Amino acid sequence: MKSTLVERRAEMLRLYTRLPWKKALQRVQACAPGSRLIPEPNRQQVLLEAQVLRCLAWPSISTLRPWGIRSVDPRPDSLVIEFENEEVNRRQPEESMVRELARVLPPRADEYGEISGVPGGRFAVEKGVVVLRRPGSTASVTLAGITPEEWADAVDYRDHEEALLGMSLCHRESPDNWTGTEFAFAREGSWYTRWITGSAWLPSGLLRRAGLLRTIGAPLHTSSWTNPADNNGQAWIVEYQHEPLVDLPQHHQRFMALLTAPEWGLPLRQTDHWCSCDRPHDMTECRIISCSALGQPGELQMRFTRRTGKRLLGLCPPDEYAARRQLYVEVPERMVQAGGRPSRP
Ligand SMILES: [Zn+2]
Repeated sequence: MKSTLVERRAEMLRLYTRLPWKKALQRVQACAPGSRLIPEPNRQQVLLEAQVLRCLAWPSISTLRPWGIRSVDPRPDSLVIEFENEEVNRRQPEESMVRELARVLPPRADEYGEISGVPGGRFAVEKGVVVLRRPGSTASVTLAGITPEEWADAVDYRDHEEALLGMSLCHRESPDNWTGTEFAFAREGSWYTRWITGSAWLPSGLLRRAGLLRTIGAPLHTSSWTNPADNNGQAWIVEYQHEPLVDLPQHHQRFMALLTAPEWGLPLRQTDHWCSCDRPHDMTECRIISCSALGQPGELQMRFTRRTGKRLLGLCPPDEYAARRQLYVEVPERMVQAGGRPSRP
């Protein structure tokens, strides 16, 4: 157990972000008294992060960690995401996390004027790392864990693929500014902006706490998507396939307690749940539905999809399975209590 207040706060920050211990300690030491270590970002930053998670939400490769994220470093006006790289998708050697990022993040317009990727997103190397920004905005997301050379190669590869389809990425037409199509798609008041803006706090908040997912159980596969919510926002569905490594239902009790902890978590209010922890099946799931406790649009549906017994066999090769089990993060009850809210089903 960490003895000093600074160490205990660094331990909590690490639990949510998976920042390396030394960096978490530095963050706590540099933090002004009374300020949050996972700060609420400004509006431009919230929107950018919401669009980044939208792109990462359903990986087309088999990442080891949820969404392929090793750690996050959240600041009010920026977010650094360290991605896994070398060990992903080892069953298909030509694939990699950096190619996945180059596939989903750079914007491309289709023939109907719809943009895939992050509208307005442009990428530059700053101090040796790749940074995503949008012209006219101070918001940024740093893509750490990959080298500028790997990124350049992956974007070239994507460009080549697009050219074969007769398409091109938006940055080719306009390297330093929005294209007209991008601007029209994501301008203030467009259907796209109205669709994502109100609920953007939710994906941004999840992205800033991406490390917490690993406390549910050994990660097997994470996918996420959106549906319209009843309150004019987006319902985010996060399905975390895992092997639970604690007595049920502690895995989802503790996760939800931490996700909604007053100082560290998101302002969520549980509205419904289905718990199947008492059923002896190898493959089943529990669901917990939450909405904003502050009346903001949006809804979160967490799906705790568990695999045990024979349903685990054959999911992945033995060495990969061993690596996934290593990624489980155990949460002692004292840390749940330190979050400030007793655990509930
Ligand atoms: Zn349950």
